[in-house]
Amino acid sequence: MDIRSLAIHGGANGDPYTGAVTVPIYQTSTYAQKSIGQHKGFEYSRTGNPTREVLEKLIAELEEGYRGFAFGSGMAAISSVLMLLKSGDHILVSDDVYGGTFRVIDKVFKNFDLEYDFINTSDIAKVRDSIKDNTKMIYIETPTNPLMKLTSIHAIAEIAKEKGILTVVDNTFATPYLQRPITQGADIVLHSATKYLGGHSDLVAGLVVVNNEELGNRMHFIQNAVGAILGPFDSWLLIKGIRTLPIRMDRHCENAEQIVSWLSKQSWVKKIYYPGYNDSQDVLSSQMSKAGGMISFEVDSEATVEKVLSNLKVITLAESLGGIESLISVPAKMTHASIPEEIREKIGITNRLIRLSVGIEYVEDIIKDLDISLK
Ligand SMILES: *Cc1c(COP(=O)(O)O)cnc(C)c1O
Repeated sequence: MDIRSLAIHGGANGDPYTGAVTVPIYQTSTYAQKSIGQHKGFEYSRTGNPTREVLEKLIAELEEGYRGFAFGSGMAAISSVLMLLKSGDHILVSDDVYGGTFRVIDKVFKNFDLEYDFINTSDIAKVRDSIKDNTKMIYIETPTNPLMKLTSIHAIAEIAKEKGILTVVDNTFATPYLQRPITQGADIVLHSATKYLGGHSDLVAGLVVVNNEELGNRMHFIQNAVGAILGPFDSWLLIKGIRTLPIRMDRHCENAEQIVSWLSKQSWVKKIYYPGYNDSQDVLSSQMSKAGGMISFEVDSEATVEKVLSNLKVITLAESLGGIESLISVPAKMTHASIPEEIREKIGITNRLIRLSVGIEYVEDIIKDLDISLK
């Protein structure tokens, strides 16, 4: 089945007991047993819940993986995946991963003696040279936030497989509609489903998909033992969001392409960051079907930043991304404020950089909001 149909029919459709077309919200903590251990597949909702199970099957099908898992946030999903490791293990991580990922590794897992290096994973030779005897995981994000750098999943997975290392991909920005890392050789793919998968800025959730039974058993053990699960109502809401993922992503991408084209003609726009725009076209076409709905651009002055952000009618100034509504932010002052200014300037996250999560509004209305000549 094509992913556009699978998004609508995947997981399971409806309810066998009543014929309801949508999956019910099984708001229960426990399940009756006929005799000890004799039950209908569910014992306790941390271990398994029918609503959550539909979501978990759905994301596994969309990512073409073996088994899916739902967590209470993207960070809960990421932390649970890191718990596959043990003290003394070493992990290689993309140097511009999501700030919360950096923080949980550098401030929490460090206390459990997890060893780590943050490196530029777009540089495959560098990745190869950075592998140590105790390296057990390579963790990448592609495209990255906010500079939209791409890493070849296939190239990383090839190096990792040779050495028995797990490849983990944070697929939040691309979603399975545009990129399916497991088909490129990754072992684990994860999401902040808070973003595009949920798609309506109305929930916080995380999803994980693994590519084989052994990893599935280990991940389920951690999910149940640690307990960072997603509740039935949010699972239901997330299923509802995912049902329209393909149609939303088409519009996000279409709008973003038109906005990139408009930005490229503005004299006050100095640099545009969009997957495949300046470089990495080969990587883009080898693993993504379209470039997505996230754009960053650098303008000529901080005064222009102020001007762009003034008088917004359609776009909202806010953190987060991936919802139907357009959101704009200044990473240096908001999401990435904890990085010292000299480092930010060096890597390109300047005070003049604006990040736009392109919504699915009528594109001319978004462009009018950005047009400083109208302000
Ligand atoms: C938001 C985000 C996360 C964290 O997810 P939460 O749902 O906020 O916990 C992880 N990775 C990326 C790429 C994100 O954008």
